[in-house]
Amino acid sequence: MKIEVISLFPKMFESPFGESIIGRAISKGIIELKVHNLRNWAWNDYGAVDDRPFGGGVGMLIRVDVVDKALKGVVGDDYQKNKTRKRKIVLTSARGKRFDQKMAEEWSKLDNLVLICGHYEGVDQRVADELADEEVSIGDYVLSGGELPAMVMIDATARLVGGVLGKDESSKQESFSVQEIDGQGLRAIEYPQYTRPQEYRGWKVPEVLLSGDPKKIKKWQEEETKKLCR
Ligand code: SAH
Repeated sequence: MKIEVISLFPKMFESPFGESIIGRAISKGIIELKVHNLRNWAWNDYGAVDDRPFGGGVGMLIRVDVVDKALKGVVGDDYQKNKTRKRKIVLTSARGKRFDQKMAEEWSKLDNLVLICGHYEGVDQRVADELADEEVSIGDYVLSGGELPAMVMIDATARLVGGVLGKDESSKQESFSVQEIDGQGLRAIEYPQYTRPQEYRGWKVPEVLLSGDPKKIKKWQEEETKKLCR
């Protein structure tokens, strides 16, 4: 899967994706991550990408022509005509649709995910209306830029791409994965898990997990999951 990011601060992506699960997937070539600097498509020789809002108001907005040129550079000249189901262009936006596990699952099947990171006061509305396929938020709060949201979306999506998680890290039973509970496909929250020591400062591991009875243990895990599912 090829993930492309358009951002004013490409360096922010280096550390989070240089290590651990996603870093490994990138070095193995399962995920290709390219972070493009929006300034490459600046509208003047000083590297400006933003401008004052029409009608007044505080702050600066990233211009639609700059984002359009960036997308043409990143995805190709005919990116608007050539809309395929295998590619999604996402604008990070505080008022967008809320990102969730289901979205991550859908996106993990794409060939190409393109994320546009806003900054400053935001982005000219025409980027959302005319250029992006979707406007997506990571929650009801305002961050200074779309970089952290893009990283959250990339992490949640990339770990679901086949081959990214090792066999010890399966995503099948995780929180928010769909599980068959009482004959219904529900989004489960993972049951509580414990490791050694068996007792620490008087805090004990549930007895049933030490029983060595796989049937009982499975039943307990299912019941705990049921309590937590949404
Ligand atoms: N003026 C805007 C906020 C701009 S914040 C408003 O009131 O909605 C600058 C940029 O950060 C946004 O363009 C967006 O790309 C990103 N951003 C901020 N909060 C976000 C969130 N919760 N989810 C996704 N992107 C967010």
